[in-house]
Amino acid sequence: MPRIAIIGGGTAGAASALFLARAGHHVTLFERVAQPSAVGAGILLQPTGMQVLAALGLLDQILEHGARSDRLFGTTAGGRTVLDVRYRHYDQQSFGLGLHRGALFSVLWQAVQSTGVEIRTGADITRIQQTGGKTLLFCRTPAPGSAEHLAGEFDCAVIADGSRSQLRAALAIPQKITPYPWGALWALVPDDGLTQGGLRQWFRHARQMLGLMPTGFAYQQMEQPILSLFWSLRADRLLHWQEQGLETWKKTVLELAPIATVLQHIQSPEQLTFARYADVQMRHWHDARVVCIGDSAHATSPQLGQGANLALIDAMTLASCFAETPAVEPALILYSQRRRAHLRYYQGASKLLTPFFQSDSRIASTLRDIALGPLCRMPIAREQMAMTLSGSKTGWLFGKLQTLK
Ligand SMILES: Cc1cc2nc3c(=O)[nH]c(=O)nc-3n(C[C@H](O)[C@H](O)[C@H](O)COP(=O)(O)OP(=O)(O)OC[C@H]3O[C@@H](n4cnc5c(N)ncnc54)[C@H](O)[C@@H]3O)c2cc1C
Repeated sequence: MPRIAIIGGGTAGAASALFLARAGHHVTLFERVAQPSAVGAGILLQPTGMQVLAALGLLDQILEHGARSDRLFGTTAGGRTVLDVRYRHYDQQSFGLGLHRGALFSVLWQAVQSTGVEIRTGADITRIQQTGGKTLLFCRTPAPGSAEHLAGEFDCAVIADGSRSQLRAALAIPQKITPYPWGALWALVPDDGLTQGGLRQWFRHARQMLGLMPTGFAYQQMEQPILSLFWSLRADRLLHWQEQGLETWKKTVLELAPIATVLQHIQSPEQLTFARYADVQMRHWHDARVVCIGDSAHATSPQLGQGANLALIDAMTLASCFAETPAVEPALILYSQRRRAHLRYYQGASKLLTPFFQSDSRIASTLRDIALGPLCRMPIAREQMAMTLSGSKTGWLFGKLQTLK
């Protein structure tokens, strides 16, 4: 069995550590943060990601912490429907799950700790060297001035260090990383039940977007449900947002959406965190004995709510490739082949959709407002949209993720 190093203990790293360790591999997981904790805001987990968690035996715990989401519903400030995608239009039984990223992290991390994975926290992997059929990892501890040292010798390294990966660039894989000009401000507030049934969004052109997503419960804090609020903002307007003050921002929000009760919970700008996104394109994801998974391999804007979902599917697929082809290099080639269609579709769809929701283009938002609402009512189109949202599509016309393998 190959000795496998995994770099990054987020969704992709922790889930792949679990699958590979349970299959009998010797797995070492390196995480930069010394004491990883339940941080982040809300993520939307899709039915395909839930299938992966079911395969890991963790779905029940996850469902306890999440808020069921049956639809994605968005209107203009004037009340015109822009987006109405319902999971049941793809599959009667399916639904999404609004979930605190920290709850997903904690459930996965706890399982990793009880699975015989060797965990090294506070280990910042700085370099990977492939030499003579071996993979050497170099590391730095968080101590100021600490020198780089050898962290270990492995048969394979899995890079799962997130969208800002420092290790990806050194791989012999053609790649293009493009930061998006837009991001979003996020806050977690108590959920007083204003929004039920799923993600609710309001749009003014593509310049303003407010979202509310029921997010279930923070890890093991089942007494108070929480709601994620997000406000779209161009990164170079963050300073202006800070200067204009909270009350001016609240006034702008209230002109778009009647959410005064939600805004009461926001008393200071520090409650809002700004997140930026990047578009990561790689021609394939393997380089001899090293493979990139999760956001490090294919981060996109979050319009389609697929970040954690794709990471979970990557992890399960990687383990199945090792099960079928135990030799490292052929297993990683198989992984790239097997993930290609699904990842290409979601990267392409996210890239295509983003300017319609986050841009200064009046043409894009006018087209969106005219066309998308009626499309959401057409049976074929609405089924395709629901299938896209559920994380199941592998092509623009045809192609469906049949079984997760
Ligand atoms: C702190 C944090 C908060 C987030 N909050 C949200 C959110 O609110 N909403 C949302 O939709 N998505 C959020 N995300 C992103 C979301 O988790 C991912 O899109 C998705 O889960 C895919 O996960 P991933 O494992 O590929 O990457 P990530 O979740 O980003 O995990 C990468 C991990 O790698 C570790 N790492 C990075 N570099 C190194 C290194 N050199 N050596 C060792 N370890 C390293 C990081 O500390 C991190 O734990 C957040 C990510 C992070 C890290």
